[in-house]
Amino acid sequence: MESTILPGWDDRDIVMVSALEHYAYCPRQCALIHVEQTFTENMYTLKGRFVHNLVDVEGMEMEGGVRIERALPIWSLRLGLIGKADVVEFHGNVPYPVEYKHGPRRKHRHDDLQICAQAMCLEEMTGKQVPRGAIYHHLSHRRREVTFDSHLREQVEAAIIQIRMMQHSNILPPPAADERCRGCSLQDSCLPEIKEKGRLRMLLRELFKPEGDT
Ligand code: SF4
Repeated sequence: MESTILPGWDDRDIVMVSALEHYAYCPRQCALIHVEQTFTENMYTLKGRFVHNLVDVEGMEMEGGVRIERALPIWSLRLGLIGKADVVEFHGNVPYPVEYKHGPRRKHRHDDLQICAQAMCLEEMTGKQVPRGAIYHHLSHRRREVTFDSHLREQVEAAIIQIRMMQHSNILPPPAADERCRGCSLQDSCLPEIKEKGRLRMLLRELFKPEGDT
């Protein structure tokens, strides 16, 4: 069905900007959230939500001559992307997206795809080049600047195609079953150590278990 949010796109083809981070972290996590609509809280998601609440109210302010937009809706008609940018600073006319994360700097830079996708949306929306942005780590109160080079942009476009295919196929990618699972809030739904048929059997048992059983 044609989308009312992004003209010219089918609803099933639209990709959320946040899906890029999930996909880069673990494709199965991305499918669980964006295809199966699974979401479970754990310590990490709660901390993430706390940090996002700091920037989750739409608004605009000026600071030292820089216009700062918070919770700015973003989109790209070319890429079929929609989402929200935590903070966008406008240095002159040039947008500079800043994504808030609760933890310290991480070894795997899956956030880079998300912030680069934000920049690509902002470029289309404003007609300005967006060469850089930053990830703000709440724990260390430090920013890590990210340069949006052609390699990162290609990775974003490739990931969007993969996510779109996943949304169409409804097939869960295989589990990562490695150290990524330790901090993942979706372990109970994912069951990364169990083969797919066993996982479905366990989820069905859970769904149809009599009330009061734990
Ligand atoms: S538990 Fe592991 S395999 Fe499953 S979604 Fe999370 S990170 Fe991916």
